[in-house]
Amino acid sequence: MKLTILQIALPCPLRLSFDYLPNNSEINWQTGMRVKVPFGSRELIGIIVNIKKANEESDTAKLKTISEAIDHQALLSADLLLLTQWLSDYYHHPIGDCFQTVLPKKIRLGETAELETETYWQLTSSVIDLKLGKKQNALIFLLKEYSEGVSQKFIYQQLGQCRTSLLGLEENKVVSSFQHIKQPLITHNPVEHCQLNEEQQSAVDNIWQSRARFAPYLLQGVTGSGKTEVYMQLAENMVVAGKQILILIPEIGLTTQFVERFKQRLAARIVVLNSAVSDGERKQSWLLAKATLADIVIGTRSAVFTPLPNLGLIIIDEEHDASYKQQDGLRYHARNVALIRAQRANIPIVMGSATPSLESLYNVEQQRYQLLILNQRATGASMPKIKLIDSRGPSANSGISTVLYQAIKTQLSAGNQVLLFINRRGFAPVLMCHDCGWQATCSHCDARMIVHQRRNVLCCHHCGLIQRLVDKCPTCQAADLKTYGAGTEQVEHTLQAYFPETPVLRIDRDSTQKVNAFAEIVNEIRQGGAKILVGTQMLAKGHDFHDVTLVGVLDADQGLFSADFRSTESLAQLIIQVTGRAGRGDKKGEVFIQTSQPQHEFWQNIIKHGYAFTAQKILAERKMMAMPPTGSLCVIRAESQDESLAMQFLSDVSGLFHQATQQEVIVMGPVPAIMERRAGRYRAQLLLLSQQRKPLHQLLDHFMPAIGSLKLTRKVRWSIDIDPLDLL
Ligand code: ADP
Ligand code: ZN
Ligand code: ZN
Repeated sequence: MKLTILQIALPCPLRLSFDYLPNNSEINWQTGMRVKVPFGSRELIGIIVNIKKANEESDTAKLKTISEAIDHQALLSADLLLLTQWLSDYYHHPIGDCFQTVLPKKIRLGETAELETETYWQLTSSVIDLKLGKKQNALIFLLKEYSEGVSQKFIYQQLGQCRTSLLGLEENKVVSSFQHIKQPLITHNPVEHCQLNEEQQSAVDNIWQSRARFAPYLLQGVTGSGKTEVYMQLAENMVVAGKQILILIPEIGLTTQFVERFKQRLAARIVVLNSAVSDGERKQSWLLAKATLADIVIGTRSAVFTPLPNLGLIIIDEEHDASYKQQDGLRYHARNVALIRAQRANIPIVMGSATPSLESLYNVEQQRYQLLILNQRATGASMPKIKLIDSRGPSANSGISTVLYQAIKTQLSAGNQVLLFINRRGFAPVLMCHDCGWQATCSHCDARMIVHQRRNVLCCHHCGLIQRLVDKCPTCQAADLKTYGAGTEQVEHTLQAYFPETPVLRIDRDSTQKVNAFAEIVNEIRQGGAKILVGTQMLAKGHDFHDVTLVGVLDADQGLFSADFRSTESLAQLIIQVTGRAGRGDKKGEVFIQTSQPQHEFWQNIIKHGYAFTAQKILAERKMMAMPPTGSLCVIRAESQDESLAMQFLSDVSGLFHQATQQEVIVMGPVPAIMERRAGRYRAQLLLLSQQRKPLHQLLDHFMPAIGSLKLTRKVRWSIDIDPLDLL
């Protein structure tokens, strides 16, 4: 009889799966089962990705036997296995490591795949001839509403700890407890949906009609045009039809607002997967989705891997957002993965944004996506006007121009809120000695140390190095140290001095480190009253603050002169997003942008003609340069502690590519990274560019084994980035 061989993907950097023999012939081995295997001196947990028969006895002589099967049947469905294989192929990433990204930690580590249960209580008798206490009455009232029973946790949330009352009622056989699968509570009385306007209704109808086939849609609608209402209506239709919905949202501090709207509106089992979710909850949500006990999964990037056997629709909100791309390890783009999933599941996918990515606009142009437009703000609020301020003109302080200062003053005295953006944390980006020209720089990076005055430190934003803030020049001992430029901390400080009566709130990574800090700040903002909010881009996304009437962008020039090829696209998106923050309520909004180049074509385009026009201009430039989205791009990055090794390694890689006779892929470099040294490592990159996607992938496939066996692979850290977001 031919022996069975199990091919297993293991968490290790090798680009292979490994052959093992089964430890038990009674077991019905299936792909997608987790197994424990001996690997070197350790034991690893892996996934069976293939089962084959040995051709000859000799094939199996050297094979080890697995130690133990963790699952009794396949935990991963065939489509999840295929998706992981696709990830491995497309991103040229080791299959075993792909599973590390795809699976929740507790599943990966071999924990049981049983759903967790919790205590539920339910009313057992409708006639109650007892004298009841106040708590007990409240309990009975609550349990009457939930006739199928409700979790003890929920009861405690509603009524406070009431164990004694529950036990008392139990003793009298009025209530009883039982174990029930732990799952999200469904809203009992969902709010009525608003009447969709014509544009919204036609978007819903259009998408709904395509429900039985793969149909990608780009839903382009200005902020406040009612995209979320469209999502909710579609989700409701799907839930009624017994389908599951996957909704991806960007990684921002606050997803609560979005999730709450769904929970209030839909009587559905909604699970949330974001960075605030514990490993235990993540596993439970994963299992609930897999068991079709969750209707809607709302989550950030990695939620795209959630198993959903009844998937009927995928929605990606703010599809242009950079957080959909993972920037280390498996460098996948969740939008890309979602499209593959939708295609395989033969279902529609909706990508929504006020400022679509050039990728998606290009796909519309190529008639691969259907464009749906929402032109009006749903509440009837008008879009604010954008005004440019020449930042070389008169300035008050900390980079705030006199014009802007006056405008802030006017809005505050009218009781309104003001939102200011500056894309730099800390107090100042430069600390310098006037006598000898010394500047505070990081000893591990080619970068300046940023002054953080409140914490009294200098901090490197690239490697995290922290030093005490010096008050004397370390070179010449002069006491005349000066800071240049301004960050959020300084702007906060200055504005507080100008407007001592008005609370100034700062929102950046420093002020929101504590769990819930962001949610608390946002709550405070929403409570209204005159306030000044100073924040980084973090605040630009998706939040709906009704009293904000003035938005100011202090350092808009950064994006205009960056070396990155996507910087103008990102700047255009940022400007439109922040513009959407102003005047969302009844009051009219205004937007001020400080720039040293008010005549720049970019500003003229975006102010006079808006995002769509500007995006088309940028797209035309990209086409001319054959850059994405028209061309295909890949960066191979390397870094090493030794100054020359990263460059040397990439030269060797480039040497391999040049052996190929193909003409389609242009190999550029290697070149040192713009910031060559970071965290003590020297960095370099090699660029591959081709008109078509295929030759680039063929070239990589062909040379991957050779790259893997280059001598220097052991001495450098290297990675492949397919469709990179930036080249910095
Ligand atoms: P977006 O997601 O495009 O930013 P939202 O769906 O959040 O827009 O809608 C913006 C505001 O308009 C919300 O307060 C929402 O309740 C309201 N709104 C949306 N659609 C309608 C409608 N058809 N009628 C009335 N109000 C609406
Ligand atoms: Zn000095
Ligand atoms: Zn550093």
